[in-house]
Amino acid sequence: MSPELIRGLCYIVASIFFVLGLKMLSSPLTARKGNLVSAIGMLIAVVTTLTAMTEVKWVWVLVGVGLGSAIGVSAARLVRMTAMPEMVGLFNGFGGLASLLVGWSEFHWKWAATGEFELFTIIAIFLTILIGGVTFSGSLVAFGKLSGTITGRPVLYKGQNIVKAVILITILVLGIFFCAQKPDQLNAGGTTDAYFLLIGTVVLAFVLGVLSTIPIGGADMPVVICLLNSYSGLAVCAAGFVFGNNVLIVSGSLVGASGIILTNIMCKAMNRSLANVLFSGFGAAASSKGRSYQGQARPVSAEDAYLILEAARNVVFVPGYGMAAAQAQHVVRELGELLDENGAEVKYCIHPVAGRMPGHMNVLLAEANVPYELLVEPQDVNPTMEMVDVAVVIGANDVVNPAARDDKSSPLWGMPIIEVDRARICIVLKRSLNPGFAGVDNPLFFKENTRMLFGDAKASVGSLVSEFKQ
Ligand code: NDP
Repeated sequence: MSPELIRGLCYIVASIFFVLGLKMLSSPLTARKGNLVSAIGMLIAVVTTLTAMTEVKWVWVLVGVGLGSAIGVSAARLVRMTAMPEMVGLFNGFGGLASLLVGWSEFHWKWAATGEFELFTIIAIFLTILIGGVTFSGSLVAFGKLSGTITGRPVLYKGQNIVKAVILITILVLGIFFCAQKPDQLNAGGTTDAYFLLIGTVVLAFVLGVLSTIPIGGADMPVVICLLNSYSGLAVCAAGFVFGNNVLIVSGSLVGASGIILTNIMCKAMNRSLANVLFSGFGAAASSKGRSYQGQARPVSAEDAYLILEAARNVVFVPGYGMAAAQAQHVVRELGELLDENGAEVKYCIHPVAGRMPGHMNVLLAEANVPYELLVEPQDVNPTMEMVDVAVVIGANDVVNPAARDDKSSPLWGMPIIEVDRARICIVLKRSLNPGFAGVDNPLFFKENTRMLFGDAKASVGSLVSEFKQ
């Protein structure tokens, strides 16, 4: 067997590992194993690629591996769980930047130097640079918004869609000139023109990424994160075409396709169409705060909340970002077990956009060993919500805001919610009456059947656990 064939087979094995890993990631039960399987696939792909290189500068490879591992391990250890979403945003961005640099280096070292490139490869280089650049700068803005470094509110200005369209058309025109550069022109010193076009494309791609992300705010961020994730996959896929490397094409397509599927799921969860997300000034709705609600909230003490829970026959927990911020998942699981021992049926209802990243609540509850069978989706619980004795909202806000269902003027209008206000009693655990991520007031806090248990979620649930134990 020729080395070429062996490498081809290794790439197929790596691709199979990626597909299997992705499949396993779709269930919390197998997700850890899926992560490992995908990582093994990546190791096979990297080693195979290194064996294909004739002049490997091993020092540089080792420096890269050392630096990358040091950053990866310390990020995984040091970054707080609540900061994971912005971390994921940053990783997406670096994926885009890496693809951009790959395209650029192919241009610089091969095309500009030898001129021996086919039109198809040149187009692939252009697309790698364009998509990589948009992903990089867009992800940096998403990172800034999620981490609070820049305003999370939509930044809107007049004619923004026209500006974006003009930039996109300019990039495409630059692209046509870039791809039309003749190889002998380059050999004869024509590189400068091509370089001018390339740098113009990079700069405009960065600007487009920023302008596409700043108008988005509030409740639309989950869609943006998934979309940027998909873009980073497309950039890798385009880089695969530059090299003619099958494993890059497969892995890039997998990330691109799964990102688009996730985008679609998030769109549904936010009640926005993908076309609306892609082409309208989305996030515009979230620029208004909606109606403000006032009334008499009914605070309860942990002792009173315990008495309500002690008498309950079925309880639904609804976790949100506050549970992540308080790191309350372990005490929540403990409370669930105590309620179960007390004879109550316990479920955990998870909204697709709860928290700050797709699957945020699933990850936390899996980490706390909450049995997977107890996790349910809003459509499983909402139809029978009237039969629920107590809905316990743990640091969730936007995903349980009844204004999304009842108030047409609300920026959240139309977003499917977990209808905890229809439960017999709803206990909300949070520190104040402040709004959540979308900045929209929540009438749930003033409903007659709502009780507010104010305080840090971990401390409040901890007090309930102590009450049960006494
Ligand atoms: P929200 O952001 O709506 O609400 C979280 C609530 O948690 C806050 O109102 C806050 O109230 C409370 N809280 C914060 N810290 C604590 C604490 N230590 N103890 C108790 N409570 C606390 O969260 P949801 O999960 O309901 O909704 C998610 C929102 O984030 C949606 O708008 C979604 O669109 C958006 N988003 C989701 C992403 C995703 O992929 N899942 C990505 C980006 C954004 P208080 O300050 O009073 O304590």
